[in-house]
Amino acid sequence: MIDTHAHLTSRFNRETGDIDGVDYVILAGSSFVDSIENIKLAKNDKKLLAGVGIHPQEVSKEVDEAINNLDKLLIENKNIVAVGECGLEYVDQIDKDLQVKFFEKQIELSLKYDKALIVHSRKATDDTLEILKKYQNLRGVIHCYSGGKKRIDQFLKLSREWYFGIDGNLTYESGLEEIVKFLPQDRLVLETDSPFLTPIPHRGEKNRPEYIRYIYQKVSEIWGKSIKDTENIIDDNAKKLFRIIR
Ligand SMILES: [Zn+2]
Repeated sequence: MIDTHAHLTSRFNRETGDIDGVDYVILAGSSFVDSIENIKLAKNDKKLLAGVGIHPQEVSKEVDEAINNLDKLLIENKNIVAVGECGLEYVDQIDKDLQVKFFEKQIELSLKYDKALIVHSRKATDDTLEILKKYQNLRGVIHCYSGGKKRIDQFLKLSREWYFGIDGNLTYESGLEEIVKFLPQDRLVLETDSPFLTPIPHRGEKNRPEYIRYIYQKVSEIWGKSIKDTENIIDDNAKKLFRIIR
């Protein structure tokens, strides 16, 4: 099983120790500091694979400086598998222009270095799509997909290597079950978004990568397939998306 999106850096109070029953965990980068820590974590544990990126809540006026710093990390560290999470979040008081700039620059980095792109989009699905549509040869994932059935086709049209990330809220939101039924099986990856979005039966506690198994279990029920078959399909997707060839 592969958890394709988790935050395990110190500011998210990661518990140390081995992660049981999980083959790989992709560490989403949400700030420059987190990105550096992701790289270090990945060097010390072969299950962990590093992403580097700036979350839309972390954008600043120093666009060029921030992007150059990420660019340097990508040059200097061959173990990075993804750029992101990056994208748009239209929730609090936010500077849309800055978010767009950071998003576009990070899309360009993912293409320049041929890394998977991890996209975060909250209350901004249409604008997110409009920006992504401007690019070709994208390989990436819309993380914690919340765009509804009607936008699935538009994301699928972005590229043949575009994936949908589904989280632990699948265990308690019936609307998401419908989405999973609707998605092509070869485009689905699963993610905990630890320490957030804890699935049933641990809802209310802090989430951890081990709990990815409850999301696999739920998908196997929805698909009417064995856990083993479900795991094979989904892990194959994640390996293609992040080019995991070990
Ligand atoms: Zn995240």
